[in-house]
Amino acid sequence: MTSTEPGIAAALAAAEAHSAHNYHPLPVVVATAEGAWMTDVTGRRYLDMLAGYSALNFGHGHPRLLAAARAQLERVTLTSRAFHHDRFGDFCTRLAELCGMELVLPMNTGAEAVETAVKTARKWGYQVKGVPDGQAKIVVADGNFHGRTTTIVSFSTDPEARDGFGPYTPGFEIVPYGDLAAMEAAVDERTVAVLLEPIQGEAGVRVPPPGYLAGVRELTRRRNVLFVADEIQSGLGRTGRTFACEHEGVVPDVYVLGKALGGGVVPVSAVVSSREVLGVFAPGEHGSTFGGNPLACAVALEVIAMLRTGEYQERATELGEHLHSELGLLVGGGTVDAVRGRGLWAGVDVNPSRGTGRAVSEQLMARGVLVKDTHGATIRLAPPLMISKEDLDWGLERLRDVLEA
Ligand SMILES: *Cc1c(COP(=O)(O)O)cnc(C)c1O
Repeated sequence: MTSTEPGIAAALAAAEAHSAHNYHPLPVVVATAEGAWMTDVTGRRYLDMLAGYSALNFGHGHPRLLAAARAQLERVTLTSRAFHHDRFGDFCTRLAELCGMELVLPMNTGAEAVETAVKTARKWGYQVKGVPDGQAKIVVADGNFHGRTTTIVSFSTDPEARDGFGPYTPGFEIVPYGDLAAMEAAVDERTVAVLLEPIQGEAGVRVPPPGYLAGVRELTRRRNVLFVADEIQSGLGRTGRTFACEHEGVVPDVYVLGKALGGGVVPVSAVVSSREVLGVFAPGEHGSTFGGNPLACAVALEVIAMLRTGEYQERATELGEHLHSELGLLVGGGTVDAVRGRGLWAGVDVNPSRGTGRAVSEQLMARGVLVKDTHGATIRLAPPLMISKEDLDWGLERLRDVLEA
């Protein structure tokens, strides 16, 4: 879709002139945003139904998060971990508390946190479990998305993410997502961890069959293997609980967190676990210049405080029920083949007769709603958790319009 407005055309051209083509953004150029709404360079408003892939769970520019960031900007923003700073201890303590864990290892992006979890699991395997050096294996699921580093794409099953980036890192085995028997068969003496998304976001909001996560928990405990839950997208309120694992009463050994932890203000990620597991690191063995910086800690502390009230989890539950009951009405009418998800999070499989996911996203954009397709035919809906019911209904009405046009 090309816009005829010269203002937008010039802004689009400027945005794309010198950027590598590693994304295919919708043709909108955002200038400002507040709450669930974004405004483009021409003043046109759009309802944000993607929320930065769940990095914006609290919406754009939440006053509490901006206040925390502003206050910290005036104090100190970066020390590096060569020195202590006065927000670090609080951040680790509060995040450990929120997770019911003991230790926190902060990083910046999600991929870095996953890399950290991989290193943690391997080191734990050698030091604690007694796996022979260099032999550790980590079991992952097909359809996974854990980030974009060379090691992480080594165990991706998405050709777009993986092809052309070898040689690949060994030490991973891929099993079908949701298949407990396959997982059981893959776990052996060398296995140090199972790394899973409790709900696969990028794959189209794939929810595993009931009992799967509990089964993985039982299996990993029985075989002395770490259960590493990548809750970067599913966690921090999105599904109606602080962690998606809670829906099956599961507590993993390791949480990997990111996205919403930074409140949509700064990148903040972390690995959170027990002393036995994260205690394997000694000084100098792992780190990050920006990981756990004062600004990141100040914003994340506010995020944690907001999550502790349970208000956002409750909203995600209530509005999520509404979202899924409305989307359910579309299934079977020839426009939508399936809807999956939990809480304020849904993958909508658009019937090919309605066009590709991309085409639907562009038509929604023309009606003032921003979403993003994934894997061809799926629209992912993940509005900010602070969205009003009226705005959500407004967005859903436009979705219906587009699908039933
Ligand atoms: C987004 C995401 C990542 C990667 O996070 P980045 O900050 O983009 O590196 C990892 N795992 C999951 C489940 C994600 O959704």
